[in-house]
Amino acid sequence: MSKDMNSFVLVAKGLVKTYGQGPTAVDVLKSVDLGVSLSEKVAIVGSSGSGKSTLLHLLGGLDTPSAGSVMLAGSNLSTLSVAKLDRLRNHSLGFIYQFHHLLDEFSAAENVALPLRIRGLSNEESMDRASKILKAVGLASRELHTPGELSGGERQRVAVARALVGNPACVLADEPTGNLDTETADGVFNLMLDIAREQGTAFVIVTHDPVRAKRCDRILHLERGVLKTFSQ
Ligand code: ADP
Ligand code: MG
Repeated sequence: MSKDMNSFVLVAKGLVKTYGQGPTAVDVLKSVDLGVSLSEKVAIVGSSGSGKSTLLHLLGGLDTPSAGSVMLAGSNLSTLSVAKLDRLRNHSLGFIYQFHHLLDEFSAAENVALPLRIRGLSNEESMDRASKILKAVGLASRELHTPGELSGGERQRVAVARALVGNPACVLADEPTGNLDTETADGVFNLMLDIAREQGTAFVIVTHDPVRAKRCDRILHLERGVLKTFSQ
């Protein structure tokens, strides 16, 4: 990579992931290299079972690679203690999944405030920032509602707000709109990209939808354990 390493938010080198051992071993990732620049939006496409979720888990430090390394905001994830990794993840990353993973007993605002409370901010400041970003995703009037009282699209917008509230360097999104109808999915996807653009957040987004993938700066195809530039 010729670019200055400081301009990358996330760098994966020679990532390998093998599940199991011996005759039942599955080589999911064979050698994945990826550099995500500041505020860059990267789409990852690939057939079901190709290892997209596995890759995001490794990039986010939720799982460890069989070989290779991940550098996030200048730190090699494999060299960090659990406490330091948690802290780095809390400050530098946001996660969005296909299913919202919000806490059912908490209001939308409390769910969004949670990453900030974990960061150690006061309840007042966390709720204030949660309220502002919920407004930005068009949910000002839904702050006090619990996930069960919201529609699927609204729940995903809360998940987007939660991922972005701490102003992370990068958001990892695994089929974030995969569970929504086309129109709702478009709305959530565009909103995600708009806020990301405003905040300068980098995104790695796994998506099945080629039209949505094209709205990103770059499309990569995960195929047979290797990430390649996507060409149709
Ligand atoms: P995708 O997200 O692209 O659909 P995944 O990353 O979920 O793909 O899975 C890739 C492959 O790895 C699949 O063949 C899946 O069965 C396998 N796999 C995923 N997680 C595990 C695990 N914990 N143990 C064993 N195999 C797994
Ligand atoms: Mg997946």
